[in-house]
Amino acid sequence: MKHIVCFSGGKDSTALILWAKESLTEFTAVFCDTGWEHPITYAYVEEINQTALGGKLITLKSAKYAGGMRELVQIKGRVPSAKARFCTEELKVFPMLAWLKDIEDEVTLYQGIRAEESAARARMVKREWSDTYDAWVERPLLEWTAEMCFGKMKEHRIKPNPLYLLGAGRVGCFPCVLHSCPEIKDRVVELEGISGTTFFPPNYIPPRFQTGFDAKSGKSIVWAKDVFRYIESVDEDQLPLLPQRSCMSVYNLCE
Ligand code: SF4
Repeated sequence: MKHIVCFSGGKDSTALILWAKESLTEFTAVFCDTGWEHPITYAYVEEINQTALGGKLITLKSAKYAGGMRELVQIKGRVPSAKARFCTEELKVFPMLAWLKDIEDEVTLYQGIRAEESAARARMVKREWSDTYDAWVERPLLEWTAEMCFGKMKEHRIKPNPLYLLGAGRVGCFPCVLHSCPEIKDRVVELEGISGTTFFPPNYIPPRFQTGFDAKSGKSIVWAKDVFRYIESVDEDQLPLLPQRSCMSVYNLCE
């Protein structure tokens, strides 16, 4: 059996790597590089590769979109979204499938998925056969809390990805199309520039603040610059789109 551990540089998959070091005699860690992670995450992935994986981390990239997210958005002519999540498939699933195809052994894929992350993940099981990957999929951290993941890192004297201390609730693509985080202006404007389409969902801010116009639908369009102008010109009826916190870490890691 070949044991493959999926690593993203986030707290869950870092804890998963440490769980694997304790629980498996041998395993291979794999990182799917979308070309769109935060530079801090790339540095952290390499740090874990050197400190916890003996430099043996396998990094996979899309053969079709060697330029990663930017090339994907350019060629697709649009930014992915929650409803059109072609990014995960093209930049993570297909590269993994292409790599797995050459393994002449039965495979178990380990994912750092936790039930408390979402309703969909709460419905997942600890171990099941995946026809997609033609492999077993195992989720040993399914019942773990975020605190348990940070606790496992503490046990191994491994620091978490610094992005958590800067206020990130999750790490991965920066920004991820599923999590509209206005903090990351330039990268959002860059994706809009490449694709000519908008990053934020249509109703993200009130229409009167939207400067774009779609002649076909006759509706206004929200560009990223509209969102940033809206956020920065705070007045009483604008709900703060940026979370106000004393400790930047959503996991109170400052303490
Ligand atoms: S993390 Fe977000 S942007 Fe990146 S591949 Fe997944 S869904 Fe797409």
